[in-house]
Amino acid sequence: MCGFIGVIGSEAAVHEIYDGLVAVQHRGQDAAGIITYDGDRFHVKKGEGLVRDIFSAANMERLRGDIGVGHVRYPTVGSGGGEDAQPFTVNYPFGIVMAHNGNVANYDALRGELAEAGLRHLYSECDVEVLLNVFAKALADKSRDGFTLESYYDAVAECYRRVRGAYSVAGYIAGHGMFAFRDPYGIKPIAIGRKRRPDGGWAHAVVSESVVLDTIGYEHLETGPPGQVLFVDLEGNVTRHQVAPAKHHPCVFEFVYFSRPDSMIDGASVYGARSNMGERLARTFAERGLEIDVVVPVPDSGRTAALAMAQALGVPYREGLVKNRYVGRTFIMPDETQRRRSVRSKLNTIDEEFRGKRVLLVDDSIVRGNTSRQIVQMARQAGAVKVYFASTSPPLVHPCVYGIDMSTRREFVARDRTLAEIAQQLGADAVVYQELDDLIEAVRDEQPEIRQMCHACFSGDYPTGDITPEMLQLIEDERITQGK
Ligand code: AMP
Repeated sequence: MCGFIGVIGSEAAVHEIYDGLVAVQHRGQDAAGIITYDGDRFHVKKGEGLVRDIFSAANMERLRGDIGVGHVRYPTVGSGGGEDAQPFTVNYPFGIVMAHNGNVANYDALRGELAEAGLRHLYSECDVEVLLNVFAKALADKSRDGFTLESYYDAVAECYRRVRGAYSVAGYIAGHGMFAFRDPYGIKPIAIGRKRRPDGGWAHAVVSESVVLDTIGYEHLETGPPGQVLFVDLEGNVTRHQVAPAKHHPCVFEFVYFSRPDSMIDGASVYGARSNMGERLARTFAERGLEIDVVVPVPDSGRTAALAMAQALGVPYREGLVKNRYVGRTFIMPDETQRRRSVRSKLNTIDEEFRGKRVLLVDDSIVRGNTSRQIVQMARQAGAVKVYFASTSPPLVHPCVYGIDMSTRREFVARDRTLAEIAQQLGADAVVYQELDDLIEAVRDEQPEIRQMCHACFSGDYPTGDITPEMLQLIEDERITQGK
């Protein structure tokens, strides 16, 4: 998972990119980078950690130019060190800068092919570097007489042919303009916007989550179907072209967990979808015939659904768990002990809300079950007489190959376990999961034009149809060696 923002035609490019990256900091806290271009040369600043720690007034001053791309990284492939921080550049043909959100599933194969046949060698383990080099090589082959839009379309078509997985991409070609495209399945979100400049012209931005456009004051433009590529030239002219037929399957987990509730994805409100998830989960819960006194959300991502669930069940909604907002996401912490310790420093109970009560805890998902187990324990220590645990998404049992860093198969607590066994693992009196159909309908209630979604992590049904057991094994082996 990652976040990006590309801006063209704005004098305040670096400041807008910085603000945009802060708005999508939740999409990656491992590393960040910005590369701008001032018509003469690139200016680069990358580092490890949070956006606010990497960029200072002094180094932002240096990032001159009215065109730039920024990125926040959450490692899926690679060590996650500073050398893997995006964006990446190549200087032939032209100077190209690129950042992406997603995951290149055939990374190893492409890396080998590039080295052997393409005479291109990579200096990082970041998958966007492979994508960028496939793109650059195709562009070089097609633009011997100079850059044309057709050569750009051909280069994207070559990426579609060769690069497996999911990718939403933003970048620019020095001296020509900004480009953006996403794979024909449109698994990862993308949004496009524009802002009127004082001189009457337009600045444009392409971002990985629509909330960024609100933050930097850009008006939203139509995203366009996946497989449609975008180019904005230096005069602000926008060209769109359908390079491959759309086979739209947006990621349902973006709605469950990843995206901010104030974002829109392909015309669907994330907040609205989460609220619908709560209503639908209330029906499933009611069928279980369990009596409860109170609904308590696991902050923050369980909150919207928990409120809707409580309303539908006619039970009080109480914020019995309080989160310290200055502690980072526990799941993202590198090792298990660190994660365990930080749940306690991140969450605390208001005991009065639990004492003597039958409590329904609501969270967006259960992955390994470690956080959930500790929260159940905390609820009991605070005096709850019964603790039920509801997940607004179905059991997670399959690895994501499209960019969400989750787990290896054997780590999923729900894998090969019955509901009663999962409840036992969590120490809960019962566990209730959302039905997959209900989850999909919760999103479609917001936007019926979304006909199909990627739900591979729940169903094992990988929509691109090209994910082999060997690829899954390779991803799993890599995670194990990296000790994730
Ligand atoms: P656990 O109980 O240890 O499985 O952790 C579940 C929590 O992890 C839930 O509260 C989710 O909000 C959160 N979560 C789910 N998927 C991810 C992910 N890919 N990265 C970070 N956190 C996640």
